[in-house]
Amino acid sequence: MFANNDFILVITPSLAMLVLALLLLIAWLVQRSQRFLLWQSGAYSLAALPLGLQSLLPLEELNRYALFIGSFYLLGAWCLAKSWAERWRVSAQPHTALLIAAITLTALYYFSHIEQSAWARVSSFSFGSGLVLALPILEVRAKKVPSDWLDKSLLWLSITFTVYTFTRPILIWLLGYSDLRSLPSSPYWLLTLISILSFSLLFTVVMSAIAVRDTVHKLRDERDHDPLTRMLNRRSFQERAQKHLGDPKLYPMAVLACDIDHFKRINDTWGHERGDQVLQLVSSILQNNLRQHDLVARFGGEEFVILLTDITLRDAELLAQQIQCDLGSKNAVLPSGPKLTMSFGISPISASFQLEQALKEADHLLYQAKNAGRDRVHISGVMYPDIFIDSAQSEVIA
Ligand code: GH3
Ligand code: MG
Ligand code: MG
Repeated sequence: MFANNDFILVITPSLAMLVLALLLLIAWLVQRSQRFLLWQSGAYSLAALPLGLQSLLPLEELNRYALFIGSFYLLGAWCLAKSWAERWRVSAQPHTALLIAAITLTALYYFSHIEQSAWARVSSFSFGSGLVLALPILEVRAKKVPSDWLDKSLLWLSITFTVYTFTRPILIWLLGYSDLRSLPSSPYWLLTLISILSFSLLFTVVMSAIAVRDTVHKLRDERDHDPLTRMLNRRSFQERAQKHLGDPKLYPMAVLACDIDHFKRINDTWGHERGDQVLQLVSSILQNNLRQHDLVARFGGEEFVILLTDITLRDAELLAQQIQCDLGSKNAVLPSGPKLTMSFGISPISASFQLEQALKEADHLLYQAKNAGRDRVHISGVMYPDIFIDSAQSEVIA
């Protein structure tokens, strides 16, 4: 039917779609949490087959396969809608989409087997697939439009493609529909191929950029946070603290070193898993007590450091006492036994170079608070009575 060169030319768009589908599939295999890549890959694979058939088959044959071709395209359109929906965390409304697909396929059957009209077929198909694509867009616009520029680009690209899908019949009409005897050489088909390939390429670029950006964010997040409590780790605390120290509006500041009392005993009595739950509870209590610019980090084991901004030593002490109070009242993790307590050391910061020194002093004060019997707050500049209770004695007291 075709000379070799023609054949290659005709199946090139299908092959290009399959290559894009394969690239997206590989991207998904590398980053499986990004399922929108898989749905997009599915959409391209499903569109590749009918695209090839439409290029190869004469118009009479296309009539016969109209339902088959239409089904593949509609399923492909839904996969594309599903990939957007996955990204925007909205529903692609499968039930409504199925109803639209059933009505569209009925129309396709009518206009191919009962009253043959290629234009009516293209119109009903364009309208049906446009509606399927519009489903997640309507949801996301009613919910919350993404604020990030890459996600915004995806939204606008999706809207443009959907509008284009709806308006295709008008384009066919403008480009002279009557001469569609040989589809592959018609201007309409050329425009369709160029637009489908351009949109597919654009979607692939935007979706891949989103996937790469998300992966980088995820890696950065893992680098900066403790996996158990999701708190900042020591490294990222230092990094963020340095930024805060450069802002004169955030002074005076205070550093709190805090440590759970007798945590080893919690592990020994109720097991390591319960110990982990205590760490998570403590982390949420600490975080709930912070204000906008304050920082909290897990420095190791059951030891935490807080940087309080724009605060006096007295208010820092009150905040530590509030945390102690919360530990006593919100402890739903430990079934019974001695109450959950923490000891604190607090040191002030009035200039940026003082962070290391303040951390050392807060740590020293924490050590003092432990030796003085635990469940205490020791503040810089206050003379505490020199009580020393060694750990063996403290086990008995607690
Ligand atoms: P102190 O009151 O003097 O602070 O006594 P402590 O028992 O809290 O302190 P110690 O340093 O003797 O023991 C800390 C324990 O914390 C030992 C370690 O097994 C446990 N630990 C450290 N990291 C984790 C963790 O991620 N999960 C759990 N469950 N336990 C941890
Ligand atoms: Mg401890
Ligand atoms: Mg400790």
